[in-house]
Amino acid sequence: MNNCDMIKDLLPLYADDVCSDESRKAVEKHISSCPDCKAELEKLRKNVAVSPQKDGEVLKRIKRRLRIEKLVVGLISVLAICGIMLYGLVYCINDYKSMDMEKYKILENVSASEHDNAVWLNISGYAASFDVDVPTLSDTNGKHLGIDDDFDKEKKNGYGVTLKQRRIDDFSFSPTGSLKSFELKLFDLYEKEDMMKVFYYDDVNNKEYILWERD
Ligand SMILES: [Zn+2]
Repeated sequence: MNNCDMIKDLLPLYADDVCSDESRKAVEKHISSCPDCKAELEKLRKNVAVSPQKDGEVLKRIKRRLRIEKLVVGLISVLAICGIMLYGLVYCINDYKSMDMEKYKILENVSASEHDNAVWLNISGYAASFDVDVPTLSDTNGKHLGIDDDFDKEKKNGYGVTLKQRRIDDFSFSPTGSLKSFELKLFDLYEKEDMMKVFYYDDVNNKEYILWERD
């Protein structure tokens, strides 16, 4: 083993500054007169110097990826929350429920009257502020059925009325509509001679309140 080979074995330790004092001195002495080994040392030092930089880049890349992942997760969360809120809003706006009979004094504000050969539904107060459901028919047993052609005509003897409100109206301080009372024509007295009564139908408790009966 010539001197150069021995020094080259020591160079990595020297570059990392972990060799003995004796070896360090030997290396320093040798490289001051051997350009070959000096060049080798510089190459080693360059690699040592470069590696932290590389580590930094890797770390940066990992951090960047984590940031992107966080952003994606955040975005998905925001979209999910927006979706839920939108669903809730649409539900509140589109979905109807029966008006609270006590809160809106339904029985005081809903009545039926007979004039001009017709039967009319009269609605006032808070009861007039929301939507009026399409009157539904009932049979003699008080069973409520929708208006459809298959329905037994013998049993079409009464009008059931239920007032509905949008769920979103629960959140408003005052009803959205006007508080003016209005009148709704239900049917002509002589056209629907089998129609015997008009009632308010409390579909929450399945109760009928007679508003009008044929004499
Ligand atoms: Zn040498």
